[in-house]
Amino acid sequence: MCCRLGKRASSCNWLYLIGHPPRDPPMPSTPTLRRRLLAWFAEHRRDLPWRAGEGKAGNPYHVLLSEIMLQQTQVATVIAYFHRFIEAFPTIEALAGADEQRVLRLWQGLGYYRRARNLHAAAKKIVQDHEGIIPRDVNALLALPGIGRYTAGAIASIAFGIRAPLVDGNVMRLLSRLFAIEEPIDAPATIKKLWAIAEELVPRVQPGDFNQAMMELGATICSPRSPSCLVCPVRSQCEADQRGLAASLPIKKKKSKPLAVTHHILAIERDGRFLFHQRPSQGLWSNLWQLPTCESLGDDGTIGVATMAAWAREVTGLKLQKPEEISTFFHQTTHRSITFVLWRSTATGKTSPSDGFIWRTLDDLNDLPLANPQRMAIERLR
Ligand code: SF4
Repeated sequence: MCCRLGKRASSCNWLYLIGHPPRDPPMPSTPTLRRRLLAWFAEHRRDLPWRAGEGKAGNPYHVLLSEIMLQQTQVATVIAYFHRFIEAFPTIEALAGADEQRVLRLWQGLGYYRRARNLHAAAKKIVQDHEGIIPRDVNALLALPGIGRYTAGAIASIAFGIRAPLVDGNVMRLLSRLFAIEEPIDAPATIKKLWAIAEELVPRVQPGDFNQAMMELGATICSPRSPSCLVCPVRSQCEADQRGLAASLPIKKKKSKPLAVTHHILAIERDGRFLFHQRPSQGLWSNLWQLPTCESLGDDGTIGVATMAAWAREVTGLKLQKPEEISTFFHQTTHRSITFVLWRSTATGKTSPSDGFIWRTLDDLNDLPLANPQRMAIERLR
C-alpha cells in the first residue's frame, strides 16, 4: 500500500505530484486527513451569514455572492457588504435587473470594482442563459464572468455538494505545509501540483464542508506567520511540522516592486459645490466618479501650480483661481503605490463646465459610486 493515500503503490500518483521520494512516517493519509478535518470543522466552523448548517448545501446565490466578495477581501469586511447586497437584491433576478451604478454604489469601499461589474454581468447571464438558476456544472460556472477555477469549485462543492476541488491562498499554505512542498507556491508547476493534491483529497461525501474546513484551518490555525501547530487537528499528519519547516513554508517567488506613481486630485469649488466626472469604462476604477484627477507618470510625480492650472482649464473648460496644494496621502493597489496630492481651487467666470462634468455638494454624493482614494480626498475637503 502507498503510505500517503492508503492506495496501492501502483495506482498512487503522489510521488509524482509531490516531487520527492516517499519518506518514513508521518505521511498524510487521505482518509485520516478527511476525517480529522471534517470533525474539526464540525466543532469549530465559524457562523457566517452565507453558510448553511453542517452537511447541508448552501443557498447557491448566497454562496456565489459571498465567494466573489471574498476574493481578495477578509471575511470580517465582507459580512456587512453581504447583508447589504442581500437586502438590496434578495434574488439573482433582482441583482441582474439592477442598474450598474447602484451595484457599484453598494460595493463602494470593498475595492477591486471589477468584481462588482463581473458579479452583475454573471447575474445577467444566469438569468438570460440559465433561466435564473445558478448552474451546478463546473464548466458552466467557469463560463460566467468573473468566475475562475477557485470560485467555480467553491460554488459547485458548497452550494451543490459536487466533488470539486478548490485552492485559495489558505489552502495553498495548508497543503504546502502538510506535504512539505519546498518549491515556490506561486510557480505555475507548484500551483498545478496543489490543484492535483486538492482534487485527490476532496471527498465525495461533504465536499463543500471539506473544502471549507481546509480554508478555515488555513485561515485560523495554519496562519501565515505563526501556525498554531500545538492545537492543529492534523498535526500528526503534517510533514512540515515533523521536519521543523512549518514557519519557513510556504516559499514564495520574489515579487516585482509595485510601480510608484503620483495622482493629482483637483477639488474645484463654486458656491459650495464641487466638480465631479465619471471615469472611463475601461481601466482602473472604471465607471466610478471622481474629482478631476491628473494621473502623472512623470519623473518624480510633481507638478507645478501653473501646469496644474493649465491642465484643469483644458479638461474642465473653466477659468480657475490659482490652485493650492492642501494634502497628500497614499493608496496601494495590486500593481501600484500611488501618492495622491489633493489640490483646491475655485471656478471664476462662467460656471458651465465641459461635457461630462457635474456640480455636487459634498453632502449629495450618495448616488455617485466613488473609489476609496476619492472618498479619502472628500473626507479631507470636509
Ligand atoms: Fe499547519 Fe502546523 Fe497544522 Fe502543519 S501542524 S498543518 S504547519 S498548523
